[in-house]
Amino acid sequence: MHQLGISDIGAALACGDFSSVELTRNLLDRIAALDPRLNAFITVCADSALAEAAAADARIRAGTATPLTGVPYANKDIFCTEGVRTSCGSRMLDNFIAPYDATVVERLRNAGMVMVGKTNMDEFAMGSSTETSFYGPTRNPWDTARVPGGSSGGSAAAVAARLVPAATATDTGGSIRQPASLCGVTGLKPTYGRVSRYGMIAYASSLDQGGVIARDARDSALLLTVMAGFDPRDSTSVDRPADDYLGPLEDSLAGLRIGVPIEYFGAGLDEGVGAAIQAALGELERLGARLIDVSLPNSALSIPAYYVVAPAECSSNLSRYDGVRFGHRCEEPRDLVDLYGRSRAEGFGREVKRRIMIGTYALSSGYFDAYYLKAQRIRRLIQADFRAAFTKVDVLAGPVTPTLAFMIGEKTGDPVSMYLSDVYTVPANLAGIPAIAIPAGFCAGLPVGLQLAGDYFSEARLLNVAHRFQLATDWHRQAPPGIDR
Ligand code: GLN
Repeated sequence: MHQLGISDIGAALACGDFSSVELTRNLLDRIAALDPRLNAFITVCADSALAEAAAADARIRAGTATPLTGVPYANKDIFCTEGVRTSCGSRMLDNFIAPYDATVVERLRNAGMVMVGKTNMDEFAMGSSTETSFYGPTRNPWDTARVPGGSSGGSAAAVAARLVPAATATDTGGSIRQPASLCGVTGLKPTYGRVSRYGMIAYASSLDQGGVIARDARDSALLLTVMAGFDPRDSTSVDRPADDYLGPLEDSLAGLRIGVPIEYFGAGLDEGVGAAIQAALGELERLGARLIDVSLPNSALSIPAYYVVAPAECSSNLSRYDGVRFGHRCEEPRDLVDLYGRSRAEGFGREVKRRIMIGTYALSSGYFDAYYLKAQRIRRLIQADFRAAFTKVDVLAGPVTPTLAFMIGEKTGDPVSMYLSDVYTVPANLAGIPAIAIPAGFCAGLPVGLQLAGDYFSEARLLNVAHRFQLATDWHRQAPPGIDR
């Protein structure tokens, strides 16, 4: 049962092959057996999951089910979940029980999905390896000595290890696509504003976007159908109905113009990763697409611009954790300043503190113009690069991340080398365009992901290209060795 994706589970539940309670129990058993090694979950909600599954079974019997009713899934621990701890991977929120559901969670709950737990993540989503989590690193199911990527490493590892068929995730600079790529699963970051950020703990508000990690493009389309749409509670949510993501899935790729950004194949790209990507591009060509070289000349500025904008916004967003209203509070504060100082010193980890300091510096008087304003200008140039490219091509294709999954501990001492794992993913966030990572091959036994990016609100097209690729390949069907007991 655990091998099935969402569409197959939906079909099996509808015809009574098994019940949601049976499936949920099966997955909870797998989590109990396998997760001590992987650490993909921060919280497992066994009792409430079984109750939700029983309610879903009743709904299926009553004939009021949706295609997602009774399907188990997990939420990244950055999404507020009513009555369930929402830690954001931080000691600061270790004691925080969210009083309400994020819009995304509410929508999936209303559709009848069963939440089995909350997944591990880099603290406040700052990281590319899930190593900055207060709860310890998640391990990559393909090789447990390696990182699963981050920050949504728990969601990616849980889906790859068949502990859940899908999980929510968020992407500020690559946190859906990079872990999906390193774990051999499918990860979609929608257009900025497509999915509500209400109840999604803020890291860098102008970049953060919620999305999905699932086995394949079809399952991602099913989930996005429910998650996408206007939300008056999020002022950056776009007032535009969700598109039909399922209808165009099978459309032919004949004549599709796929742009290959030359800047994404330069120095720094691992040879094995590059070879797998070239082979995947060849497959897209066989499917009828035309490959066209394009240039995104400002690509090299993405990382420096991102690592000014993201820390600047995080320093502002994280100022709310003051030890007064919620979250960690130090013991016996002497006065207010001591309360603020020690609560934050104890509650935040090293990487978060580093970013708050960088961001506070970049925003301070006299430096704002030199750093934040300059970075925002670069952002506009990057957006213009994409706009120019999309006058010539329909989608862009290239690598997700320059290397294979690296060893746990390999980059923790060198933040800049960690930041460079985001070199191909941050441009989409800076511009706000959608992008998807799909399994596209293996190198040394580790998964390699292909990234497809499109113009604003082109999720349906990206899912279509990904789905056609997945009909012709079986990379997305490979499961890590040793995950079947
Ligand atoms: N790795 C990037 C960072 O550390 C992106 C993280 C994310 O997308 N949340 O900021």
